[in-house]
Order: sequence, then structure tokens, then C-alpha cells
Amino acid sequence: MPKTIKKIAVLTSGGDSPGMNAAIRSVVRACAYHNIECVGVYRGYEGLIEGDFKQMDARSVKGIINKGGTILKSARSNGFRTEEGRKKAFQNLVDAEINALVVVGGDGSFTGALIFNQEFGFPVMGIPGTIDNDIFGTSHTLGFDTALNTVVEAIDKIRDTASSHNRLFFIEVMGRDVGHIALNAGIAGGAEEILIPEEDLGLERLVESLNRSRTSGKSSSIVIVAEGDKIGKNIFELKDYVDENMEGYDVRVSVLGHMQRGGAPSCFDRVLASRMGVKAVESLLNGQTNYMVGLINGKMELTPLDNAIKGKTKINLELLRVSDIMST
Ligand code: ATP
Repeated sequence: MPKTIKKIAVLTSGGDSPGMNAAIRSVVRACAYHNIECVGVYRGYEGLIEGDFKQMDARSVKGIINKGGTILKSARSNGFRTEEGRKKAFQNLVDAEINALVVVGGDGSFTGALIFNQEFGFPVMGIPGTIDNDIFGTSHTLGFDTALNTVVEAIDKIRDTASSHNRLFFIEVMGRDVGHIALNAGIAGGAEEILIPEEDLGLERLVESLNRSRTSGKSSSIVIVAEGDKIGKNIFELKDYVDENMEGYDVRVSVLGHMQRGGAPSCFDRVLASRMGVKAVESLLNGQTNYMVGLINGKMELTPLDNAIKGKTKINLELLRVSDIMST
């Protein structure tokens, strides 16, 4: 392994998130600033296996800081889950004289990066890019803030129609294992109830609570449901249950889906991406490897990839309490 890093590759992997482009731009420009070469890898680990590389300089990343998605494309690669695939990827990196790899993605992508490092000793650095905010070692993942703003805007619009028709709306948001989007956007959007995977409210309590809202004078209600909530029903079954057990409401469902991943990154995500890219490149140049860069107490910090993968993020209990009080 060369001791000096002269060329760094960057790829985006797993689900895309707003801010990935800003992170690519930051990695490329930090390399240019430090007079080292930078290579973009297309379609995540799939492109690594196929050698789908493109030399990038500071001008290659102009005009992308405000764009959603990822110019390098993302992919889920089954090939990288095999030793044979990873061997090909390693050979391609060696052939292109690349000395380190920055992976922008979620915990699956980091698991792949860590296995790759353990097999070949290749230096890797992670940047957490996922809207779910489910990665240990950073208070914010790239794209979380933008997704929250997108969801809140959607809730505001749905509330207009809900209040015009005395409707009860169930709005499903992303979050299979964690309820960060649901909880934060639910509070910001003034939801009556928020159903998250970390807490099982129970169907009866949900109906009781909605009935209480109505008798307290509310003519319409919004319930935010994280897609992985543990109430035991999908959102359409939930609607049917409430339809059967509550009278007087016109119950509707809205699944926000992939719109939550799109759109121009917020100011917060652009700044975060810029900081993370610089920290990733400079840490590699300082000889640090197998870390993820993250935001902890306002500062850029490194967390060992292993901890980032295994550690669990916790829901903020204060937010749960605030949400309860706000639905009074
Ligand atoms: P998101 O949070 O948006 O789902 P993610 O990074 O967790 O993003 P995954 O689909 O879990 O997304 O992982 C992305 C890619 O990382 C996989 O397609 C695969 O190529 C690689 N990967 C994941 N787990 C492993 C593993 N155990 N071994 C090797 N590669 C892996």
C-alpha cells in the first residue's frame, strides 16, 4: 500500500439523498485544493467492479451544489457482496493507481467498505448520505434536513384540503427502522399523532386520542405514520380500522414515497456536505482510514466505521414529549 495518497476515488451508493452532489463537489474540490487527483466512480460499487471511472477536476463539479440526486448515479450491487466482485474492484483501483476511496451512502454501503478494507487493506472513508438519519456517529445524515422540509411542505398542503372537508389524513413517510423523519416533520407540521417504529401506541389508544381531538373541537386531523411503525398494520389497513371504529370522519391516506428523496438540498445539507467532503479528504491525507465523518455537537468528528454500522441512533425522548403536549 502506498504511504502517500495521491489519488482518491469517490462514489455514491445505496439510496440517493439530497446533498450527495454537494458532497461529491466537496471531495473533488478538496482534492484539487491539496493538489491530488480525484476520480468519480459511476453507479456505486457496480461501477467499481466494472471500472467505470471518470477523472474529475474542480471544474467537473460546477453547478451541482443545488441539485438533488447524484451525478455519479447510485446502485445496489450484488456483485460487491461476493469476494470475486470485490477482487475485481480492488484490481481496478490498483490499475487506476487510486490510493483511497470515499463512500457516500448508508450503513449497507459502509459495511461493504469495511469488508473491502479488511480484505485488501484499502483505505476507505465514509460520508453518511441517507434521508433516514439512522446512522450512529452523526446528529444529521446528508439529506435528512432536506427530506424534513419536503415532508413538512407536503403536510401543509394536505392540511389545507383536510381542514376544508373535515378529513382525517394518514400520511406515510419514509423510515423503516427509525422514526426521525416522522417525529420531526410531524411536530413541525402540527400532526395530531405520530406513529414511529420505536413506540407502539396501540390501535385503541390511537382511536381514543383521535376521538379526544375531535371532542376538543378539532374538525380535521393529521396522523404521520413512519413506514416501519409497529402498530401492526399497513397504512391502508390502519385507515380501514379507523373507518370501522370512528364515525364522522372522512378518512384518507397519502403515501409520500420517493418525492422525499428528491429536490434541491437545503442550505443546511449543502453546508454539511461541504464540511464532510473536506473532512473526509483531509482525514485520509492525515493517514486516517476506516472512519465515517459526522457532525457531533456542531463539530466534524470521525467515528470508526465499525461503530457507525453497529451503533443505533436513538429517538429524542424530549421530542416525543413535545409532540404529546402539542397535540393537546
Ligand atoms: P440506504 O440507507 O439508503 O438503504 P445503504 O448504503 O444502507 O443505503 P444498501 O442497499 O444496504 O444501502 O447497501 C448498498 C450497497 O452496499 C449494496 O448494494 C452492496 O453493494 C453493498 N453492501 C451492503 N452490504 C454489504 C455486505 N455485507 N458486503 C458487501 N457489500 C455490501
